[in-house]
Amino acid sequence: MIKLEAADLAARIKAEVKAEIERGVRASLAAVRVGDDPASAVYVRNKIRACEEVGIRSEHHALPESTTTEQLLELITSLNTRDDVDGILTQLPLPAHIDETAIIEAMNPLKDVDGFHPVNAGKLAMGRPVFVPCTPAGIIELLDDRGVEIRGANACVVGRSQIVGRPMAQLLLQRDATVTICHSRTRDLPAVTRTADLLVVAIGRTGFIGRDHIKPGATVIDVGMNKVSDVDEVRRLFGDEAEKRLDVVAKRGSTLVGDVNPAEATEVAGMLTPVPGGVGLLTVAMLMKNTLKAAKLRRA
Ligand code: NDP
Repeated sequence: MIKLEAADLAARIKAEVKAEIERGVRASLAAVRVGDDPASAVYVRNKIRACEEVGIRSEHHALPESTTTEQLLELITSLNTRDDVDGILTQLPLPAHIDETAIIEAMNPLKDVDGFHPVNAGKLAMGRPVFVPCTPAGIIELLDDRGVEIRGANACVVGRSQIVGRPMAQLLLQRDATVTICHSRTRDLPAVTRTADLLVVAIGRTGFIGRDHIKPGATVIDVGMNKVSDVDEVRRLFGDEAEKRLDVVAKRGSTLVGDVNPAEATEVAGMLTPVPGGVGLLTVAMLMKNTLKAAKLRRA
């Protein structure tokens, strides 16, 4: 079984962005975060750090939990009109009292580097993408980089979120895969996923996809990011490789696990993305690429 590590590709994507910035393209990203969700704070910090690495100017708007929809709309409107801001990133999820749809729809589609605005989602669905959500875009880059054939493949996407599942299915369709989308109401999920040459899983359920879901030799892309701190669960999920993970739990209190059971998938899959070290790294790299694109489009 081949591990589809993504660190090298993510570094190359960022290096390409950096080279263009050094050749004189100016680009800037405004990151907006509301509330105290620790995971969101880590994600935004990683994105800001990546901007610093590649030379994209960044600003971080960290607003208190008490921020109202109106106040956030005001900030988005001002970022929309500012000429020195190329890309706007609103870290999701927003606190429950904020109207997330209204915020996403208020963004200038030309600055929507996450590709969540209905104009960008619609263009992608029509096969004319401009800004594509970073996670599925990164997965396509990874498949291409490793020479995984998409055209004609039976591809199955488990999960239908706006952020991952739906745009992933659209991208695979655009690349001539035969695409099936599964979700929580799918009947006999293993019977469907077992037909897939290419299986992309984005459901947010620790180690849910096991041996019975995977066709022998399939390429499996694990988007999930779940924290596990239970020692017995770590042993069950990692089998022979559990010791390393148990060290991580001892040091940090938890370890990151995907939606795919790594011990079982390793027995059946042909290729598998690790968690961490897989899809997550590409998400940040693609955000850099989208921000550069936004800058170039606006200045063209
Ligand atoms: P959402 O919670 O928005 O969507 C989950 C999807 O999974 C839904 O469509 C849901 O179906 C489906 N689902 C849930 N349970 C099952 C089940 N038992 N069988 C089949 N389908 C199921 O999640 P996201 O797409 O935002 O994220 C998914 C995972 O990916 C999370 O772990 C998240 O942390 C991770 N993630 C990782 C990123 C990265 O960079 N690596 C980026 C973004 C997300 P239904 O629609 O019927 O409810």
